[in-house]
Amino acid sequence: MARGRAGKAQPKKMKKPIKVGTVTSDSCIFPAKGASRQRVLSELDEAHDEDFWFGGGRILGSMCTKPHDIAVEAQSMFIEANLGNPGLYPGTRKLEEKVIRWLSALYHCEGCSGHLVGGGTEANITALWLARNMSSGKKEVVFPSSAHFSLRKACNLLALKPVEIPLGDDFTIDLDQARRAISGDTAAVVGIAGTTEVGAVDDIPALSEIADGAFLHVDAAFGGFVLPFMPALGMRAPPFDFSIEGVSTLGTDPHKMGLSTIPSGAFMLRDEAWLDFISVDAPYLTQHRQTALSGTRCSAAVAATYAAIRRVGFDGYVKLVKGTFDVTKYLSKSLRREGFHLCLEPPLTILNIAFDDPKKVQAALLKKGWHLSVAREPKSLRVVLMPHVTKKVADSFVEALVKAAKELKAL
Ligand code: PLP
Repeated sequence: MARGRAGKAQPKKMKKPIKVGTVTSDSCIFPAKGASRQRVLSELDEAHDEDFWFGGGRILGSMCTKPHDIAVEAQSMFIEANLGNPGLYPGTRKLEEKVIRWLSALYHCEGCSGHLVGGGTEANITALWLARNMSSGKKEVVFPSSAHFSLRKACNLLALKPVEIPLGDDFTIDLDQARRAISGDTAAVVGIAGTTEVGAVDDIPALSEIADGAFLHVDAAFGGFVLPFMPALGMRAPPFDFSIEGVSTLGTDPHKMGLSTIPSGAFMLRDEAWLDFISVDAPYLTQHRQTALSGTRCSAAVAATYAAIRRVGFDGYVKLVKGTFDVTKYLSKSLRREGFHLCLEPPLTILNIAFDDPKKVQAALLKKGWHLSVAREPKSLRVVLMPHVTKKVADSFVEALVKAAKELKAL
């Protein structure tokens, strides 16, 4: 830094000209002139072709899926909407209110409030933000080691201390250890309804009991659009929502099994008055108070979530979830028949195939065009069954996996 007359540090004057010119693929130049529409579209096409799409069927490592057509339509209809400034968008605001009411019914909480957010990460951050501000000075957040990394991100942002609890044999939080970890310094306890790695559902009623009045957040990013539809299929679904008295907040992701567009999440809270704890003045906007983490919000996704839920309905989700469980069962059978070992009976629609070195198998599959991920606990190849994965896709996946495993001498 240069020194001025008085000896004070002066920032160097940046007088570099902005580089403008003809855009090439590797230059760092701002386009000098607008390109033709055709040119732009062909560049977009090129990028689009490089991406992998759910319709191709070979993405078996994502909790998202191809959104419902009507959600895509809604997204483009509402592309200008911005609930960061809701006075301009009373229609979109009504759609959001309706979705929140529907989700309140789905999660057994008539008086619940909330708003639609960008996904599970934003819901988790908002929950811990609220918990921290409500708990006046408490610093610790107790959650299972299976928690999504967004909770560690949230702790880091909010200067909270993560207290990770190991898992029991069923890959849910060890309740004894959780009990011992909860203290007078606990700002929040978090339970997961559908863990990212295996789909396990923590014992939320028990957590609620041992939390003993502490703020309890349920991360149902994945399970939130699966668990409510299981009883209609005669399947046992562990309780996880506001029907449990101690649950304070819940996050869920309509952009996963809900068939909405990305980014669609929902943050739900038991008592609307709690929003005061995270409210900020927004003097120049049409509504002078903001309680969402984002300012400008992708509100087209609100319309998409409305459209998906309205079009699919409870019955439609029951069918969708049934189809996904059917493929999960079908694939488990085929894998076992081929001699693969599954680390656990799948609690939801994720399969974990045991390998000594799952990353090697993952890489070999990638070379064959299959996209999977690996889990740390249990060490395994992780297969996420979403609605775009059909039995036909499952068959070709087994074929590819057998080949890859044989090449690696892992079968
Ligand atoms: N919570 C859980 C349990 C998840 O599985 C995920 C993502 O897969 C998240 C939170 C984060 O959600 P998002 O990626 O929508 O922010």
